[in-house]
Amino acid sequence: MRVIETIQEMRAFVSAARRQGKSIALVPTMGALHEGHLTLMRRAKAQCDIVITSIFVNPTQFGPQEDLACYPRDLTGDSEKANGVGVDAIFHPTAAEMYPNRYASYVHVEKITAKLCGLSRPGHFRGVTTVVSKLFNIVQPDKAFFGQKDAQQVLVIDQMVRDLNMNVQLEMVPIVREDDGLAMSSRNRYLSTEERSAAMVLSQSLSLAQQLVHDGERDIAKIRTAVVSVITEQPLASLDYVEIYNYPELESVSTLSTKALLALAVRFGTTRLIDNTILEAT
Ligand code: AMP
Repeated sequence: MRVIETIQEMRAFVSAARRQGKSIALVPTMGALHEGHLTLMRRAKAQCDIVITSIFVNPTQFGPQEDLACYPRDLTGDSEKANGVGVDAIFHPTAAEMYPNRYASYVHVEKITAKLCGLSRPGHFRGVTTVVSKLFNIVQPDKAFFGQKDAQQVLVIDQMVRDLNMNVQLEMVPIVREDDGLAMSSRNRYLSTEERSAAMVLSQSLSLAQQLVHDGERDIAKIRTAVVSVITEQPLASLDYVEIYNYPELESVSTLSTKALLALAVRFGTTRLIDNTILEAT
C-alpha cells in the first residue's frame, strides 16, 4: 500500500492504474480510522479494482471554535488498518498542498445545507463540498463511498454531483455501531466513561422512534417529542437538534407518508455527536 502526500504523485498513481484498465474507488476520511471507515473500504474493494482512501483533516469544514487542532491523528495506525482491508493507496496531503497561499475557490450547495448540521455548523458543508470536489478532481474515481452516519452530507454531495455533472457514482453505506448501539465515530474517544455510557441514549431514542413507527405512529411531531424526551432525561446530554424531514428531499412534513430522516446532534460535555435513522411508513 502506498502513502501519497502530493497531488502530482496521486495523479500519476491514478493514471498508471487507468492505463491498466482498472476501476477506481475513493473513500474520503479524516482518519482515526474505525470499523465504520473500514466497512466503507471493504465495500469499495468488493466493487472496484483500486481503492484510494484520503486521510485529510480538512480545515475548511471546521468552525473557529471547533476541534480542528485536537482532532485525533494517527497515520501509522490508520495505515495498518487500511492495508488490512486491501486499500491500495492512502492520499494524505498537507493543508498547504490542498489550500496553497492565495487559495480562493469554494463550492457551495444551497437549500439542503441550510438545516440540521448546516445550521449548527455554519460553513461546514461549504468546506465539505469544496474538499470533496477537489478530491474528485484529483482522483477522478468511478465510485465514491460515504457513510449514512453523515446522512445529510451524503445528500449534499449527491446534490453537488448532480448539479455540477460530476462523473462519479456515489454509494451510501449503513451506519456501523458499537455493541451497545453507539454509532462509531472518531470523536467517541473524547468521551469520559460517564459520557460514553450516557451517549447510549442517542441510539436508544432512534430505536424508540422506529418502534413507534412500527406500531403505526405517523405523526412527525409526536415522534420527535418522544425522541427529545428520551434525550433530555439524560442529564449529561445537551440537545443541539432533533429534526425529522422527508427523505431524501429534506423538506418539513407533518405526517410520515413514505420515508423520513430522523437526525440528531447532541453534546456530551464538549463532544458533539450525531446520529440518525431513516423512518419508513410501510
Ligand atoms: P470521517 O472520517 O468522520 O469524515 O468519516 C469518513 C467517512 O466515514 C464518512 O463518509 C462517514 O460518513 C463514514 N463513517 C464514519 N463513521 C461511520 C459509521 N459509524 N458507520 C458508517 N460510516 C461511517
